[in-house]
Amino acid sequence: MYGTGLAKGLLLTLRHFVDSYIDDIRYGFRKYSHSVDNFGVRQGTQTKGVITVQYPDEKVAVPERFRFVPFLIIEDEDHPTRAGKDWCTSCGICAKVCPPQCIWIVRGNDPVTGRPVPEPEAFFIDIDICMNCGYCAEYCPFDAIKMDHDYELASYDRTTHHIHDKDRLSKPNSYWRSIAPTRAYEEMLSRGTWEHKDAAKEARRGQTSSRPSAPRPAAQAAPAPAQPAAQATPAPAASAGGATPWSEDDAKREERRRKALERKARRAAKRGG
Ligand code: SF4
Ligand code: SF4
Repeated sequence: MYGTGLAKGLLLTLRHFVDSYIDDIRYGFRKYSHSVDNFGVRQGTQTKGVITVQYPDEKVAVPERFRFVPFLIIEDEDHPTRAGKDWCTSCGICAKVCPPQCIWIVRGNDPVTGRPVPEPEAFFIDIDICMNCGYCAEYCPFDAIKMDHDYELASYDRTTHHIHDKDRLSKPNSYWRSIAPTRAYEEMLSRGTWEHKDAAKEARRGQTSSRPSAPRPAAQAAPAPAQPAAQATPAPAASAGGATPWSEDDAKREERRRKALERKARRAAKRGG
């Protein structure tokens, strides 16, 4: 019969309209809250009715594995020995694997010896070329580059706003742990420590860390998988004599620098003589 399809369509629209209000009452408006837990409610298969989000007044919380442009992890400001230090060692692997080649790194050099140091002097990502594939984060051997959740990056000037430099890219480790608690916890298990990989290596070589083992954040309680006893987080060894892997490393670097200066002075003296 003519018009049956039209009537069915209108009835369906009416049902969605009514369901929207029924759903609001059922969840007590929880589904509009911006917490991560509500993402499942708001976008889950059980949700009925109209699910339009009134952006930007309303924002749907993104899931933990959501990825936008990358950012670089630096140590938290309250870290006892490495405050603000880069996790990136400027190894260049991320730049090599990046499919559209939008990462540019300048490796740092010791100003006296001229030898490379494991820190980037400059780090740029062209976020308009970045295709958010996440390869850089997957391949980084130091867990130093991660995919961000911040997707509100539109601006009128591409040159000044869309080529992110090191300052713009750097975010503290605590930020990563707040947006991706489960991933951060899994990475910590694989590294065996909440600390940087190199710091953990030094600790295994017999050095000690002055930082106590960070507790698992509360937000990780629900999503983190149960860990067998054998995988429990190894607690860092107790500090001895105040020495830390990083202060030791700095001392070695200082020693190399002193020797280089001595060699330079000897060469200058020979040339002068
Ligand atoms: S792969 Fe990681 S450590 Fe290496 S340059 Fe990239 S961000 Fe830095
Ligand atoms: S997310 Fe992909 S495209 Fe973007 S910088 Fe990383 S590797 Fe390159």
